[in-house]
Amino acid sequence: MKSGQLNINELALHLKEAINSISPFIEEHTAIVCPNCRKVCCADKHGRYDKNDIAFLKELGMDIPPQPADREETAACRYITKTGCSLQRWMRPYRCTLFFCDPLMKSLEKGDQKLYMAFDNYFQNLILLRREFTGE
Ligand code: SF4
Ligand code: SF4
Repeated sequence: MKSGQLNINELALHLKEAINSISPFIEEHTAIVCPNCRKVCCADKHGRYDKNDIAFLKELGMDIPPQPADREETAACRYITKTGCSLQRWMRPYRCTLFFCDPLMKSLEKGDQKLYMAFDNYFQNLILLRREFTGE
């Protein structure tokens, strides 16, 4: 079935699956590069949900994770822990899934080219699904 034929709930489910499908590949590489990071990207401003993130989670019947008030934008993200992000990737703000710092991007690109090409195809599909879901 083409994604254009999916209803909003089906789109949300497909988007969740798309995020889950790319997550292991990204995590293989974050496990390599992030432990040596000197400027961790997880500032609180990146952990804030936009209206589309909220609509996505609601469509899947999920409660929005706790939103502490009065937290500085530059403070450590509300969802970070000593072992990394406390949220599964599909529950994170979409901007987190879209973000690849240079060392992470280089790590992704320099590995097995077939794997990287497959990842890139899946990622493009994920972006299309998100656009269809949001209508933006
Ligand atoms: S993704 Fe990049 S910037 Fe963020 S913690 Fe990992 S190495 Fe650092
Ligand atoms: S939600 Fe997770 S990945 Fe995104 S900025 Fe916060 S800790 Fe980092």
